[in-house]
Amino acid sequence: MTDVTIDGVTKTFQDSNGEIVAVDDVTIDIEDGEFLVLVGPSGCGKSTTLRMVAGLETVTEGSIELDGRAIEHRQPKDRNVAMVFQSYALYPHMTVRENMRFGLEESTDLPDDEMNSRVEETATMMGIGDLLERKPSDLSGGQQQRVALGRAIVRDPEVFLMDEPLSNLDAKLRSQMRTELQRIQQDLGVTTIYVTHDQTEAMTMSDRIAVLNEGRLMQVGTPLECYHRPANRFVADFIGDPSMNFLDVEQRDGGVLATADEGFRYPLSSDVADDLGDATDLVLGIRPEDVEVGDASATGDHTMSATIDVVEPMGDDNVVYLNLVDADVSLIATVDGMRRLESGDAVTVGIPEDAIHVFDRRTGDAVH
Ligand code: ATP
Repeated sequence: MTDVTIDGVTKTFQDSNGEIVAVDDVTIDIEDGEFLVLVGPSGCGKSTTLRMVAGLETVTEGSIELDGRAIEHRQPKDRNVAMVFQSYALYPHMTVRENMRFGLEESTDLPDDEMNSRVEETATMMGIGDLLERKPSDLSGGQQQRVALGRAIVRDPEVFLMDEPLSNLDAKLRSQMRTELQRIQQDLGVTTIYVTHDQTEAMTMSDRIAVLNEGRLMQVGTPLECYHRPANRFVADFIGDPSMNFLDVEQRDGGVLATADEGFRYPLSSDVADDLGDATDLVLGIRPEDVEVGDASATGDHTMSATIDVVEPMGDDNVVYLNLVDADVSLIATVDGMRRLESGDAVTVGIPEDAIHVFDRRTGDAVH
């Protein structure tokens, strides 16, 4: 039973151009048994954060604790964490059995027959019980990936660390392994930190996600919190597919959000206007799934005339690209895949006030 505290951790690297701050004062408390996903674009510092927990990188500042015990000065093998890499990192000259035993031999002094039975039990659980005498080169990518996971599980570590472990698998296998990995993690109840740049993986697998950008922590929360109440524009943009629509607006007297050319005017209720205070330079955000596409005769305070530019059928949904008639504004909406909409159609766009997000344009922080 282990919780992990990443406390004010910073990592700087030196390269020929000077100092790179890869991780910048990141604090995350990961609870015992939790599945935490570190997510963010390439280069945001996810792997470096994970590697510091594993002991594969030193910590420049801050501390990392397992159950309140500082571990940042311990050797990787003395941390009781097991890491699974994107590349699987199996030893090519060893059989599956030897690969799985290797980690056990390093970290425990169990009797021989107990090691064997633990390897066999884990291999059966991972569905690779009949592959134990094969070499990695005789296995498919999916099977190699199971061996890599099995090798981590057999050690019975306090914490699993996983760095994009599914990204070399094809889409179908990836989604199957996603479910399986989640089930195994829940059954074993082992605290897990999982790195991915794939927001679907983050949203579907995690108890909570930690969103990083340029080394800084943008938000930690459940997938639904990050989706419904993004702390800032970065998270709002990163989570959700297609991405949220953003519109530069100013707050005018009388609680109206308007584009600079006044073509788009959006009256606010007093509740929302109160949240905005006297801020002027703002960004209005609306998710494509919250944009309502209605027929051309619809009216209302938050309804505007629009023309359909492009319709992309995606099966269940249509992704619709729209241009507002009275303003130089383009929006993306997702609508039911059964609806007959065509390029050039005159429609209306409704932006329900209970679905809007408002961000400070300078800081990016959510103000509503
Ligand atoms: P990706 O998804 O592409 O793997 P990431 O979010 O995992 O990205 P990191 O690998 O943690 O990002 O890298 C964060 C930053 O630190 C990047 O700017 C990277 O170039 C830099 N970096 C990482 N390792 C080193 C190193 N050993 N020396 C110098 N810079 C490094």
